[in-house]
Amino acid sequence: MAKSYDFVDHKYDVVVVGAGGAGLRATLGMAEQGLRTACITKVFPTRSHTVAAQGGIAASLQNMTPDSWEWHMYDTVKGSDWLGDSDAMEYLAREAPKAVYELEHYGVPFSRTEDGKIYQRPFGGHMQNFGEGPPVQRTCAAADRTGHAILHTLYGQSLRHNAEFYIEYFALDLIMSDDGVCQGVIAWNLDDGTIHRFSAKMVVLATGGYGRAYFSATSAHTCTGDGGGMIARAGLPLQDMEFVQFHPTGIYGSGCLITEGARGEGGYLVNSEGERFMERYAPSAKDLASRDVVSRCMTMEIREGRGVGRNKDHIFLHLDHLDPALLAERLPGISESARIFAGVDVTKDPIPVLPTVHYNMGGIPTNYWGEVLDASGDHPNRIQPGLMAVGEAGCASVHGANRLGSNSLIDLVVFGRAAAIKAGEVVDPKEAVPTPNEAACEKIMARFDKLRHASGSTPTADLRDRMQHAMQEDAAVFRTQETLAQGCQRLDDIWSGMKDLKVSDRSMIWNSDLVETLELENLMANAITTVYSAEARKESRGAHAREDYKDGAFSGRNDEDWRKHTLAWVDEDGKVRLDYRGVITEPLTPYQQGGIDPAKIAPKARVY
Ligand SMILES: Cc1cc2nc3c(=O)[nH]c(=O)nc-3n(C[C@H](O)[C@H](O)[C@H](O)COP(=O)(O)OP(=O)(O)OC[C@H]3O[C@@H](n4cnc5c(N)ncnc54)[C@H](O)[C@@H]3O)c2cc1C
Repeated sequence: MAKSYDFVDHKYDVVVVGAGGAGLRATLGMAEQGLRTACITKVFPTRSHTVAAQGGIAASLQNMTPDSWEWHMYDTVKGSDWLGDSDAMEYLAREAPKAVYELEHYGVPFSRTEDGKIYQRPFGGHMQNFGEGPPVQRTCAAADRTGHAILHTLYGQSLRHNAEFYIEYFALDLIMSDDGVCQGVIAWNLDDGTIHRFSAKMVVLATGGYGRAYFSATSAHTCTGDGGGMIARAGLPLQDMEFVQFHPTGIYGSGCLITEGARGEGGYLVNSEGERFMERYAPSAKDLASRDVVSRCMTMEIREGRGVGRNKDHIFLHLDHLDPALLAERLPGISESARIFAGVDVTKDPIPVLPTVHYNMGGIPTNYWGEVLDASGDHPNRIQPGLMAVGEAGCASVHGANRLGSNSLIDLVVFGRAAAIKAGEVVDPKEAVPTPNEAACEKIMARFDKLRHASGSTPTADLRDRMQHAMQEDAAVFRTQETLAQGCQRLDDIWSGMKDLKVSDRSMIWNSDLVETLELENLMANAITTVYSAEARKESRGAHAREDYKDGAFSGRNDEDWRKHTLAWVDEDGKVRLDYRGVITEPLTPYQQGGIDPAKIAPKARVY
């Protein structure tokens, strides 16, 4: 018999799950409008992964070079390999400057130019003149600690507007009504073991990515795709999960990130022959080509025997030709990381680097207001009532098959803000808060209780290790039918293995064993939909590079059959069902009314 749990009940207009950049921007925007807003987070807000973002945030401010929102939109479309939704990409590029100036006024301490404007650096894939070049300086930065600066500012502002925080509360699942409306969320207070039931008119998932489905990732150990797990258990689909970004420069060994801003400031990659090989692959953008491109080129150099080090299995990143004063001013954080994690003094020696899992383009399908779509066959753009998703957990989709560097931080604040604007329209503070569906709540607690008392023979850490290695090996930078089919098989086996999990700690207070088990279930929903979606996509596009599809004018990309979003559902038994949803090719604003020239964003070969 499952133990029954008592609930501490709360009622809010809006509950935001997650206090990273996206969750905090949404929370602040909701609270500013006087909506009663709670923000639930499993870690202290300023410990969310956003704090680790280094390089910066993209917006066409034109402080350093000519720029325009159309150029930013074009770069985003091309970066996405023509899989992003045009309405959302236009919204992002147009709203970006506004969102950055708002951050400035909230108090983010941006680095400055001589004349006091926000400093901007070049970043991969961001160019002038609709991709013609030269590189544009579009990425606004607070040295190499941009995420840190943003997160602290947004947390302070949220408190100022009386948002209520539930810190170190682990959200378990969404409370769904019998007719499919989201009514709130149940969370476990890790510190005192109480269970809290939040009823709300709107729930915003801002739970971040699922980098930890892989063995080597730049993301925090808390990036376990909990929002995706909750969505899957609510019977809703995840979108474009096959697109996983490898960042070219994770420190060899630790996976710790060296920002692309390092190459933006003039750093470059070399192989064992001392050659700056990116000039060969991407004559125009060179080391600042898009991330998927640079990661593949590095992998090819290593495979062809030109890797560096004893095992010829990584690449060198040189910063030692740059002025030490510039390194100290613009890249102090990564200078420190290189010293701690690679034992390298960047003013003297190159940093050993390797492509490392960094970002999930896929996630919870939404429109550009952050409203979740239920997205099934005949109503691909239908809104799922009571539910929004923003940030890395969501998929609006602006990044399509590949995200440009510095386009995530801007996505967090633009769509966090958009969700707040929309909630201001659709949430009526005078309306009653829904009464939670008791049967749904019971089911949520039964799952929790079952995991808490899991008494099989496999420790959570062992199964997680198997999952991380399967993903690392079978859903990597390069993929084939064989590796992906093997990945599906391995993930199926690991899913069955969850029945045999063993949780040794049964307590309710700071039970990290149980937290990790809940996180593993969430990771598995993300991981299994990733490999199944990847196996089914018979083309190469963006970060999904298949060696069995690489020919033709578009290097293996097949727009006729595959310019569409994957939708993936996974049921309790780990069975994955796939469907597809059309890409939105119409921008928000028609050309005649000042929109982008449609000819400019029509699909073509993607070269840098
Ligand atoms: C090392 C690194 C550097 C980066 N640098 C840049 C950069 O320079 N520019 C750029 O544009 N992008 C960068 N990115 C990407 C970008 O930082 C992330 O995509 C972004 O920060 C994600 O923000 P988020 O708000 O969606 O989620 P996160 O910041 O990951 O926050 C997730 C939140 O959800 C909460 N949460 C999750 N699950 C639960 C649960 N079950 N219950 C309660 N709370 C939960 C967590 O407590 C946390 O508060 C970088 C990423 C990494 C890893």
